[in-house]
Amino acid sequence: MSQHGIHHVTAIAGPASRNVGFYTRTLGLRLVKRTVNFDDPGTWHLYYGDEAGAPGTILTFFPWEHAAPGRLGVGETQETVFRVPEGAIGYWTHRFLEKGVAFDPIDKRFGETVLAFRDPDGMRLALVAVPGAEAEPGWSAGEVPAEHAIRGFHSVSLLLEEAAPTGAVLTDVLGFAQGATEGSVTRFQVPGTAMGGIVDIRPVGGFLKPRPGAGTVHHVAFRAADDAEEAAMAQKLRENHRIATTEQKDRNYFRSIYFREPGHVLFEIATDQPGFAVDEAPAALGQALKLPDFLEGHRSRIEGLLPSLGEPA
Ligand code: ZN
Repeated sequence: MSQHGIHHVTAIAGPASRNVGFYTRTLGLRLVKRTVNFDDPGTWHLYYGDEAGAPGTILTFFPWEHAAPGRLGVGETQETVFRVPEGAIGYWTHRFLEKGVAFDPIDKRFGETVLAFRDPDGMRLALVAVPGAEAEPGWSAGEVPAEHAIRGFHSVSLLLEEAAPTGAVLTDVLGFAQGATEGSVTRFQVPGTAMGGIVDIRPVGGFLKPRPGAGTVHHVAFRAADDAEEAAMAQKLRENHRIATTEQKDRNYFRSIYFREPGHVLFEIATDQPGFAVDEAPAALGQALKLPDFLEGHRSRIEGLLPSLGEPA
């Protein structure tokens, strides 16, 4: 059966070693792939996720050593939200205090407990306490115990001029259903999907335009089971919404098409197949620089260009 929801989120970061330290040590995610930006091979593309890098758990970055900070604006992803077990919020509050991570007072949204925080580039992140998540497996490399570990994505929120046109794409093409509204925020949810199954839309007509840069989300990718489902989604976008997608691009770990949704956020549709174990053993994920075949011949030059990652957890 097809699984819908968020496949991955890709953001822009400052220095790569700081990014690796924060996401693997402070947040305890697994670095599941170290590769390069296929469109800019002198730049890292780092993937973090659960043990396997399952769809719905993957946060990826293009780190640039001297990236200027971005500014949040309308037509952009506002916040990227992870799931944690219900009993873990206290642990994380302590950890953020101890590690000097900037966070907001604990909040309630749609009846759930939320701890919003920022990464070292100012990227807006949050943890949501989810009942039952403690029964799901949690990855641990040591610092963050498995019982408190992040369990994939909860949601992203989008800052848009208006909710309806984007909502129509989410519901007609990407497998979401319109849910509750709280204040100005409307929740869209994939029925029966816990991991990465929520997109919240916050309409803010007339807000500032975004400035891309460190700490901003580059795009959000949604799941398609395989090439056939992805092609069917592209056809629906074209026929029902007059939205053209790019041709399919082979990203080695998934195959992707891209489009601007009506609110101007860059969306991607990515296949669940083949996944991160396609070019290294599951136990060794993220330990070596992996390159697609078309870049393998340039390996030594690429290795010379890439800044040090430091030591991941
Ligand atoms: Zn992507």
